Amino acid sequence: MKIGFIGLGNMGAPMAENLAKAGHEVTGFDTMTKPDTLPMAGSAAEAAKDKDVVITMLPNGAILQSVADEVLPVMSKGALLLDCSTVDVDTARAVADQASAQGLLSADAPVSGGIGGASGGTLTFMAGGSDAAFEKAAPLFEIMGQKAVHCGPSGNGQAAKVCNNMILGVTMIATCEAFALADKLGLDRARMFDVVSTSSGYSWSMNAYCPAPGIGPQSPADNDYQPGFAADLMLKDLRLSQQAATSADADTPMGQHATDLYAEFVEREDGAGKDFSAMLPRFVSRRRS
Ligand code: NAD
Repeated sequence: MKIGFIGLGNMGAPMAENLAKAGHEVTGFDTMTKPDTLPMAGSAAEAAKDKDVVITMLPNGAILQSVADEVLPVMSKGALLLDCSTVDVDTARAVADQASAQGLLSADAPVSGGIGGASGGTLTFMAGGSDAAFEKAAPLFEIMGQKAVHCGPSGNGQAAKVCNNMILGVTMIATCEAFALADKLGLDRARMFDVVSTSSGYSWSMNAYCPAPGIGPQSPADNDYQPGFAADLMLKDLRLSQQAATSADADTPMGQHATDLYAEFVEREDGAGKDFSAMLPRFVSRRRS
């Protein structure tokens, strides 16, 4: 396929390179970087013109909206706009409506798996859009990822992403505060892991990404909390979950509290640039207020 790929940052560049390696004709565009691994266009519109698929991997909904305003009018009828960024559900749905009004297919397909998943082609895609859009994107999902779930109509990919990451933020905080409590009760961390990882308190945060160094499988805790998945990105996703909850009138008190704690950690403490599991040393250093 002829593919325009807009947004070649930490995630977009390796995703675009995997598509090119698999034999697709990929033209890139980014306002900041010019990777020499891909032919580059001079503008987003130029990257999008005469393509079968235009993929976006951008920082947020406002930027997605401005790129969509530029590229949708020049895309060929029947072409697909595939947005893999994590953005708010409302913008994802607005862009999909705009695409459909211009006779284009579109899907929101945010990813989980991080930079390692992007380079290794092992991302998980959660997609919202029509069956026709999902079918057109499916062979590309296979190259860039290991799994793609069609979650329903437009916006449902972003809905799945914010729900998943709200659970992740909340369970990581619960896991970290439980380890800090265990420390203060004199319970050895390895014993705590042995019990919880095989009991009803288990979770991905405990079992696969343990925030305590030297315990469980290798994780960012074993590398001085270098990300991994940065606390800043967790804060972005938690804020999107609360924006979605406000828009849908849903009561999400734990999601709100996790958002407030990550905001405090990233913006007022020393959490910026650290892995999101660095909440453990934060809790260890604190006292009950
Ligand atoms: P990044 O900041 O490294 O890359 C974004 C790129 O978009 C940058 O290169 C920037 O120059 C470019 N850009 C900004 N405005 C542009 C415009 N108007 N036109 C063209 N290019 C423009 O971010 P990233 O880590 O690659 O993340 C991209 C998206 O993926 C985000 O929505 C993020 O939330 C999501 N995501 C990231 C991860 C991760 O681990 N990094 C994991 C899952 C999802």
